Amino acid sequence: MSTKTKRFILPESEIPTQWYNIVADMPNKPLLPLNPKTRQPLQASDLYPIFAKALAQQEMNQTDAWIDIPEPVREQYKNYRCTPLVRAYELEKALGTPAHIYFKNESVSPIGSHKLNSALAQAYFCKQEGITNITTETGAGQWGAALSYAAKAFGLELAVYMVKISYEQKPYRRSIMQTFGAQVTASPSMSTKAGRKILTEHPNHQGSLGTAISEAIELAMNTPNCKYTLGSVLNHVTLHQTIIGLEAEKQMALTGEYPDMVIGCFGGGSNFGGISFPFMRHNLKSGKKTRFIAAEPDSCPKLTRGVFRYDFGDEAGYTPLLPMFTLGHNFAPANIHAGGLRYHGAGTIVSQLLKDKMMEAVDIPQLESFQAGCLFAQTEGIIPAPESCHAIAATIREANKCKESGEEKVILFNLSGHGLIDMASYDKFLAGDLVNYSLSDEVINENIKELDDMLK
Ligand SMILES: *Cc1c(COP(=O)(O)O)cnc(C)c1O
Repeated sequence: MSTKTKRFILPESEIPTQWYNIVADMPNKPLLPLNPKTRQPLQASDLYPIFAKALAQQEMNQTDAWIDIPEPVREQYKNYRCTPLVRAYELEKALGTPAHIYFKNESVSPIGSHKLNSALAQAYFCKQEGITNITTETGAGQWGAALSYAAKAFGLELAVYMVKISYEQKPYRRSIMQTFGAQVTASPSMSTKAGRKILTEHPNHQGSLGTAISEAIELAMNTPNCKYTLGSVLNHVTLHQTIIGLEAEKQMALTGEYPDMVIGCFGGGSNFGGISFPFMRHNLKSGKKTRFIAAEPDSCPKLTRGVFRYDFGDEAGYTPLLPMFTLGHNFAPANIHAGGLRYHGAGTIVSQLLKDKMMEAVDIPQLESFQAGCLFAQTEGIIPAPESCHAIAATIREANKCKESGEEKVILFNLSGHGLIDMASYDKFLAGDLVNYSLSDEVINENIKELDDMLK
């Protein structure tokens, strides 16, 4: 009889009581966001018109390494945390690799992804400050679904702008949001100035996170007692997601191993930062040499082929200028099925860490990502979200390198979500209807030149 442990489980009493703010421990702090009009560095108070104060303060906090998790948020976390850490024995066997592969399973949240970790925190801090309404954007619908759940949990009204292509491709995410009581609008829409402008210029615009963010911010600014929330990219979102890595750190201790590599898929950086930063602190503070690998789609390669610039977070240019790796805020990514990875820029913390070579990035073609996802489903029994498939593909690449070299490396990746509401994408893949969308240098350079001309 085998005595191998597959799932490493922690009781709810082990849910961390604090989030980890890596900025406090970074030797080179991220550059500060700039006010787009004055080009002066922002203060937290500049963000108060858009964000809850507590979240704006977390966003700008460069000094406190540990931020308390409010008790009502921890209570909500008990509905699904601690999430399991799993050793992927069957995947290892199928690959014939000597590597030890572990994954942190964030797909067990009631909404099916890691996004709920930050949604609950953001809804709580808004409620605390007497806010009654919140707005947001959503790409594939994961963030909108998570925030709908969180808004209901803390008694807030929510309006969601959903990227039009996803609104059509992923109708069940819209149903989930509506089931939790949120109001959902396809973006670009005629309901905002930003949306009307985009639709006038491009009547068939399929939407992007950039357009949806512009609309959600505009609505928040024009509605009393209403704030905007964001599901990725910003520092405070990644802060909340560090609960993933903090739990994984305790669970890796139970395995008796320590990761040589930590891998996450990359949209704006929140699940990647969430699993990585708690481990990266040991690289920063005690000389560990773990590699951190962000896996992005090759159709939206801001980390591997973008440039480090000040850029807007949205299409219309409502956000502060953020120092980030970017493809330019006018970049319109191909309609790949990993909707959560179709964003033009990277968070400022991750951008600084990449610049300082504290982490690496790889880009993954769409077909390779789905092949990886199918192998994972067939071996480990969980159908991964199309986004998560990128992390799996990067893991398989590394495991195959171990097979060649014979090295018994320990790889930890984050399974950011399940794909049970993304079966239309799997259908297309299985029918042979999906293609790769590699980008030419010309397209990338054109967008970046547009950005540089605009910021002159
Ligand atoms: C949103 C999403 C992502 C990408 O967002 P990050 O902020 O980069 O983590 C990845 N996986 C899933 C399942 C998502 O819903």
